[in-house]
Amino acid sequence: MTVHLDNYREIAGAEVLDELHIVADRVRHLSLQNINSTPVGGGVAEILTRMIPLLKDLGINASWDVIKGDEAFFNVTKAFHNALHGAKETITDEMLDCFRENTEMNLRDMDLHGDVMFIHDPQPAGLIARRREIGKKWAWRCHIDVSTPDPRVWNFLRPMVEQYDASLFSMPDFAQRLPIPQFMVWPSIDPLADKNRELEPEFIRTVLEKYEIDPKRPLLTQISRFDRLKDPLGVIAAYRLAKKKHDCQLVIAGGGAPDDPEGAEVLREVHEAAEGDPDIKVLLLPPFSDLEINALVRGSTIVFQKSLKEGFGLTVSEALWKRKPVIGGAVGGIRVQVINGVTGFLVHSPEGAASRAAQILADPEFGRQMGENGHQHVKQNFLLTRHVKDYLLVMLALEHPGADIVDLV
Ligand code: UDP
Repeated sequence: MTVHLDNYREIAGAEVLDELHIVADRVRHLSLQNINSTPVGGGVAEILTRMIPLLKDLGINASWDVIKGDEAFFNVTKAFHNALHGAKETITDEMLDCFRENTEMNLRDMDLHGDVMFIHDPQPAGLIARRREIGKKWAWRCHIDVSTPDPRVWNFLRPMVEQYDASLFSMPDFAQRLPIPQFMVWPSIDPLADKNRELEPEFIRTVLEKYEIDPKRPLLTQISRFDRLKDPLGVIAAYRLAKKKHDCQLVIAGGGAPDDPEGAEVLREVHEAAEGDPDIKVLLLPPFSDLEINALVRGSTIVFQKSLKEGFGLTVSEALWKRKPVIGGAVGGIRVQVINGVTGFLVHSPEGAASRAAQILADPEFGRQMGENGHQHVKQNFLLTRHVKDYLLVMLALEHPGADIVDLV
């Protein structure tokens, strides 16, 4: 589907679109190059896929490139990712060397052409080494929760980050002591993407049937990469406890991402934990299963995002948008999306998740009301149009370093 800003008029409101044009007018002379580490899988790819066409429709010369890396490199960056989230990882000198060598290869091979460079997450952070030679404005866009980073990894990354003109974090809690400006930008979902758009009830029914899900009984769902920090085993434990009180079903669905080598192992653990219960469906979804994911969420009664650590967790907004109450781990960006008792519940354990699920299952009207609240919350705060505006404003700010106020007219 071609993406046109005008299609968002009804959902986002005319004044939001007008503001976007005003800001875009001020930065249209600048090209914007985004660089990350995977074209599919995970939230960053999800956002860029939808955002680049919208920026282009606004007349911004926006592009998106992906760094290269082999399995060894992505094993290292996954360990970095976990360690920056505060998980225990052994980081060896060889791993740091592997990161440096891969960065050197990308520095040699990549065409760094944007007037403004948005470098997403740690994997491509070392590209900043070219800055002295080619100039341009550089922003490091960090999507992960680095509030309690492993010092070894953060001390390795920090000298790179400090060379940027600015950094962007998803939450104030993630801000670091850095000598560069820091902008706080929430991620977003695209209400018109196949992942989120309205669906015919018949299509939802067909998808539920395909996976042998009983449409008459409540369905609990978590959709995430198979990653320990998403706590799929905790979700299964919560479901088993809730099931003692309410006859329900569970879908644990997810796919992999080329930059996440741990997925297969975690999937094995999930299969093991789910064994023996035909009401648990473990689905390995291929990339581009957006319509099916949309249907699975729409067919659900409650959506889990029981992460132990989370940058933002787009899946939460995706579910709230579909008017589903969300039971989420009380971590990272989940805490701004799930307003406890209003759009869902924040939990700290499988037991907590189970008791909240049982509470909602016992009172469907309460669940429906929280879902409605969630939809409004996302509409106000987490739509792509707001995100695009924030990025354009960052481009403008980068053009006026040190300025407290930049006139838009
Ligand atoms: N997703 C998907 N297929 C899957 C699992 C997840 O398309 O099998 C999507 C999900 O709908 C969301 C994104 O990938 O849009 C995950 O983003 P999130 O911020 O929740 O987590 P991340 O994977 O970036 O840690």
